[in-house]
Amino acid sequence: MISPENTLAIQGLSVGYSRKGRMNLAVEDVSLSIPKGGRLGLMGESGSGKTTVAMALLRYLPRNASVLSGSVHFQGRDLLKSTAMELQSIRGRQLAAVYQDPLSSLNPIMPVGEQVAEVFRKHLSVGRAEAWERSLEALEHVELPNPAALALRLPHQLSGGQQQRVVIAMALAAEPSLLILDEPTTGLDATVEAATLELINALCAEQQTTLLLVSHNIGIVRQYCDSVSVMYAGRVVETGAVEDVLIRPQHPYTEALLNCVPTGHRKFSSPLHSITSAPPSPSLTRCGFFAGCERASEECKAGTVPMTSLANGREVRCLHPGPSVRPAVGHALDTSDATPQGSPLLSVKDLRKSYRSSQGYVEAVRGISFEVKRGETFAIVGESGSGKSTLAKCIAGLESFEGRIVLGGQELPGDHRLRHRTIDTQLATLVFQNPQESLNPSKTVSSVLMRSLKRAGVDESTLPGLIADVRLSAAHLKLKTRMLSGGLKQRVAIARAMVGSPSIIVCDEPVSALDVSIQAAVLNLLADYQRRTGTAFLFISHDMSVVRYIADRVGVMYKGEMVEIGSVESIFNSPSHPYTKALLRAAGIDGKSLTPDPSGQRGSSRELEQSGCAYSARCAAVLGDHLCFSEPPPWRHDEIGKIYRCHRLSSALVG
Ligand code: SF4
Ligand code: SF4
Repeated sequence: MISPENTLAIQGLSVGYSRKGRMNLAVEDVSLSIPKGGRLGLMGESGSGKTTVAMALLRYLPRNASVLSGSVHFQGRDLLKSTAMELQSIRGRQLAAVYQDPLSSLNPIMPVGEQVAEVFRKHLSVGRAEAWERSLEALEHVELPNPAALALRLPHQLSGGQQQRVVIAMALAAEPSLLILDEPTTGLDATVEAATLELINALCAEQQTTLLLVSHNIGIVRQYCDSVSVMYAGRVVETGAVEDVLIRPQHPYTEALLNCVPTGHRKFSSPLHSITSAPPSPSLTRCGFFAGCERASEECKAGTVPMTSLANGREVRCLHPGPSVRPAVGHALDTSDATPQGSPLLSVKDLRKSYRSSQGYVEAVRGISFEVKRGETFAIVGESGSGKSTLAKCIAGLESFEGRIVLGGQELPGDHRLRHRTIDTQLATLVFQNPQESLNPSKTVSSVLMRSLKRAGVDESTLPGLIADVRLSAAHLKLKTRMLSGGLKQRVAIARAMVGSPSIIVCDEPVSALDVSIQAAVLNLLADYQRRTGTAFLFISHDMSVVRYIADRVGVMYKGEMVEIGSVESIFNSPSHPYTKALLRAAGIDGKSLTPDPSGQRGSSRELEQSGCAYSARCAAVLGDHLCFSEPPPWRHDEIGKIYRCHRLSSALVG
């Protein structure tokens, strides 16, 4: 609504992209407003149009995009009618943005301190010396260590979390009235993400900045926003206060989206809800969610559904709105799935892997040992750089290693070139995070799968059964893989991994690139396949909610070492190691608040050189007598069957 109280008011915004001479509608009739100091979350899955809205209001749309109708009033002025000169004076000064990839906002060849100083010079007209001083203050304000030294570094010399803090310092330097955050922490690890969001939260509160947070992450919107607009297929379908929309949704799509998130139930006891219908084009003149809606009626097909106002400033685009019947989030972990028993299928002993780099040898995996039983899902969690993906590649035969791997009673050679292809396809296959990187885009689904069958020496007549296992149809076989959505591509990749009925499938972040609704469908598929066939999974993930849903046991890795191993319920209900606790706090499990690692910054590479505990530089429980810095911590057993590596007893590691 355009009113003097609103810092931002978008009214009836429609945006289209021109392709091959045709205008394709991407966003239709979007209206939203944020009062001064308010925080609105613009939420939706990929393709919902949320980033197009953010780009349109910044007037940063690509060349083939056009605003077809509507207005964007910022502090009473319509940005869509502003001249280039006016926009230049507004952007960076009164209106700033932070994007997902910090490198897209940073000049790669200019020291970061210089880039922050430039904002002060350009927007606040201060002299060179004062701008530099204020740049150092700004870097300190975003809690970067040693600002004087860090200011002289180039962007690539900083970690991802540090780069994003520099961008935040630049965005907030001129104390803008409105800050637009477009998936600002999506590429960051959970602990860094929580710390970055806390920082933005505190700084915006201090400066009374109005916030538009564009995100697919329900937990983040719930914690950091006071109102939310949910987008589906180019339209806002529900808007209102966070505690109304995300706790008691009225629109069937919002409800379905919330139900896709794993919230404590387990793989075999209750499958996740998933949204099976793909979003249609916004130009469709009926309700966009018609195909996936359980409440759909004939009237819903009759024409475009208008927004209806409800109580408490809430609006919903639905002819049959109603309260959700989903259970409240935060219920206790369902432990009804029995943990598989029996002899180990995979046994990893003292596995090591080093790489040569410009600074000498880097130990990516440092003496890891664990076992996986038949029919079990063993998840490995940890931040990027923990070595979990390297470990997966060693087991799948893509990397050589030192140590021992025994798979199905057979010792695997350390030199990956000696791994026999047939043995690998029968015993361990790999599903990657980005299926498009492992699928030839010009091949049909049929030829990809036939090739795998042939290589594994499996009868081609098993193809129909294979595609049925991953719920693909015969029509999909004829399509080139580039024509498939992300979820369908991942199904093809999983089908390929299933060829030859392997005893264990190594899954490296198989759902982290997928939207939450597609993620739910893929997780259900994996759980169903495991229940029917008894296949084991080694499941690498940084997403603790996903791990809790799919895993039987969990191993926690930090800087190339395993620090805790236990059943999923023991890890989630009673974590012992300080790093496991930090990971769980940062993940905001069960709708709890995301809480940053108390140490704030991530550990430095110096940790790898020391002989003590790798986590000592970040550990809030570190022992004052230097034992943690000088002696490798011992493995300890706790009373619930979990093991963890620490100098302290679990009972002394409270909090
Ligand atoms: S308008 Fe009809 S089809 Fe659309 S969400 Fe509402 S009930 Fe479902
Ligand atoms: S050994 Fe020391 S530094 Fe390492 S996790 Fe335990 S208390 Fe912390």
